Amino acid sequence: MERSALKLWVESQKPAVESLLRDLVEINTYTANESGVDQGMALLDQAASEAGFIVERIHARHRLISLRKRGAAPRILLISHMDTVFPPDGDFLHYMALGDGFVRGPGVGDIKGGLVMGLWAMAALREFASDYDVQMIVSADEEIGSPTIRDWYLANPTHADFGIGLEPGFPQGVLTPTVPLGVVYQRRGYGAINFTVNGKSAHSGTPHLGLSATEAMAHRIIRLHALNNPERSISVNVGMVRGGISANTIAGTVEAAVSFRFERLSDGEMTRNAVIEAVLDSCVYNPQLDLWDSATYTLDSFIPPMERTERSQLMIDIVLEQAALLGHNVIPIARGGGSDANYISASGTPAICGMGAPTADIHTPNETIYLPMLHERIELLALTLETLSKRGLQAS
Ligand SMILES: [Zn+2]
Repeated sequence: MERSALKLWVESQKPAVESLLRDLVEINTYTANESGVDQGMALLDQAASEAGFIVERIHARHRLISLRKRGAAPRILLISHMDTVFPPDGDFLHYMALGDGFVRGPGVGDIKGGLVMGLWAMAALREFASDYDVQMIVSADEEIGSPTIRDWYLANPTHADFGIGLEPGFPQGVLTPTVPLGVVYQRRGYGAINFTVNGKSAHSGTPHLGLSATEAMAHRIIRLHALNNPERSISVNVGMVRGGISANTIAGTVEAAVSFRFERLSDGEMTRNAVIEAVLDSCVYNPQLDLWDSATYTLDSFIPPMERTERSQLMIDIVLEQAALLGHNVIPIARGGGSDANYISASGTPAICGMGAPTADIHTPNETIYLPMLHERIELLALTLETLSKRGLQAS
């Protein structure tokens, strides 16, 4: 598409973009406020239908918005959500223009700015591009890990070839009109396990009558920390230990929490299994009681990584190339923490993230976006989609 024509069109759409953004922000869509989330979805349904897109419900409360032209373009899935982290009984509830293009509001950047960008980038494709197959998924509960749509992501029922997350474009410094924004090429995966080691308590003067859970925990911690592997970017940390009742008592029970991070799903699964094995293996024995220590665990969380692959790199290359043509300051970054793009990646679909609104102070009562840059980034997203639709064919 012609960049100058796109620019003029985006300019003409500004009032409509800002009006929908304001209306979405004014609806409280805290994850647990289900009626609010549903109300936000209803408004989105209306906007998407009016724009001529097809809207489907997924697992009752989520939405899939589609725009297709019959052709050979690979299928691209935009990844978004409706819920926010701001409760309806808090005091951060409204859209506030701060002047000079800055706007503050609950979820204005994470992720309602990204939502409207997704809609208008799709509209730009229909306006200017010749071949496309784009969908946008909108989760109702992303902020708590998308529990009711995670299985959908992992199964990839729409057979998406590429995934693009509309989480905020992360300012690499203070949010100003010229700050570079990060596009995320990789998110490490994360796992956490809570466990309890059991021995037998006794007076410290008669150790033969007890079995020290403290000692058994110490062995486990050393074994768990030995799983650290910087070369493969695997990190493991026992971050919390609690147990025993006094210096004069052999501890009967000690609890701990271990977490681990990893770049590749296979490394994550291997590390998870190794952690569980290290936790469950007994290591201290009292022959007089014929007693080994024992342990129980619960898997607190396991979030797959958004992996960096050749095909995700193709998307990053296109974003950087189009950003350079538009004069946008965008740099590739890796981030910790998960988004729904992690689940898309785990389904085998290459994914990138951070293509949404330029946002400062995400998840705080100061969440702020810079509107002029949001509009410009609709151009970047539209051109990225168009280029990927053409070039991604061979790679998909
Ligand atoms: Zn988000």
